[in-house]
Amino acid sequence: MTSANAAYVKRDLAHVWHPCTQMKDHERLPPIPIRRGSGVWLEDFAGKRYLDAVSSWWVNLFGHANPRINAAVRAQLDSLEQVILAGFTHEPVIALSEELTALAPAGLSRCFYADNGSSAVEVAVKMSFHYWRNTGQPAKRRFITLANSYHGETLGALAVGNVELYKEIYRPLLMDVITVPSPDCYERAPGASWAEHSRAQFAHMEAALARHAHEAAAVIVEPLVQCAGGMRMYDPVYLSLLRAACDRHRVHLIADEIAVGFGRTGTLFACEQAGIRPDFMCLSKGLTGGYLPLSVVLTTEPVYAAFYDEYAKLTAFLHSHSFTGNPLGCAAARATLAIFREDDTLARNRALAAHLGARAVELEAHPHVAEVRQRGMIVAVEMVRDKARRVAYDWRERRGLTVYTHALSRGVLLRPVGNVVYFMPPYVITPEEIDLLVDVAREGIEAATCD
Ligand code: PMP
Repeated sequence: MTSANAAYVKRDLAHVWHPCTQMKDHERLPPIPIRRGSGVWLEDFAGKRYLDAVSSWWVNLFGHANPRINAAVRAQLDSLEQVILAGFTHEPVIALSEELTALAPAGLSRCFYADNGSSAVEVAVKMSFHYWRNTGQPAKRRFITLANSYHGETLGALAVGNVELYKEIYRPLLMDVITVPSPDCYERAPGASWAEHSRAQFAHMEAALARHAHEAAAVIVEPLVQCAGGMRMYDPVYLSLLRAACDRHRVHLIADEIAVGFGRTGTLFACEQAGIRPDFMCLSKGLTGGYLPLSVVLTTEPVYAAFYDEYAKLTAFLHSHSFTGNPLGCAAARATLAIFREDDTLARNRALAAHLGARAVELEAHPHVAEVRQRGMIVAVEMVRDKARRVAYDWRERRGLTVYTHALSRGVLLRPVGNVVYFMPPYVITPEEIDLLVDVAREGIEAATCD
């Protein structure tokens, strides 16, 4: 480590407690102090550059220091940085709500804002529960969730998620949920198609709905990709079946599009690929182009109407966060949506995704790669001990960490989830940069699996 970086590392480690980190790891692998970002590149204080292949935790869409988003945030800063959203309003939140409701699946006409993804999930969970109470069905208070799902770290969001690593220790604090096997297509039988597997797995959900509909408020899913659960993917047919079954059993459907929204899976929202409209759609991360913490839950008129009454009836949704609908975040979000419109981002992404997929699939030949899977601008590479029998590496071996450190030495930020190496780059990446990513990943996987 050069002295320019070392000075920051020393000051950092004296006071900063980093997220999702065993701080002792920093004894041998110090955090990297970043001085600036530009496009897909991050630069440390010694001038070393890193290609941000994970979009800074899946938030960045159009590169760091994007001139158009910068200009929008700067302009907003000069007029209004923040205002209470209870009793007051502002132009950025009004205009953003108009734009989002026009873009979202038809019928999602109401926007409730928060300031991060987990908070959006809390809002959706509380709203669904409260809707059933307000409409005279208080017994409907449980949530149905998929195995291997992830919805955030606050206690409600953690409860409806299912990644053991994050959840197990806090279990005594969490509400009890109904967990159903995942449609994850990595688990499909040899020869089965994604659609066949996802459709077959739906039988578990149908059974759970039939059994629990009387006490279930909502089913919550990550549409198409279980990201934190290792970028496990499933077929849209599952969502179509789920929508129909939720209607039949009178249970809400919450779509957590926090990671997959805004073009990640090939369509603006992943739900579109199944042609469905959820009752609640949670958005964050890419909502602001990855600039500022903002989230929103979109819902329907019937849900809104169930809360609309005289104050004394106490049916209102009395939930708030200080920075709900922050004007700077809304301005960044509007600039982000403008880029989608002006640059025809979804069409451009199709070409980029095709290149990414064509290059990444080469990794499937590796003796310790069981699968390379893709959905739009997400590609995942599953490292395994035994390819023929799909035996996973023990998590204690931390194979992903070897990929991470190798990639850093080559100027690429890859941050595997367990044994899954993935690419989820900003949409401004070039084909040449994609080639670099794949080459570095190949070397990293080699280094991680060579024993
Ligand atoms: N839901 C999903 C699907 C996510 O991927 C994440 C974040 N990784 C969250 C919720 C939580 O969002 P946040 O980290 O902003 O609380």
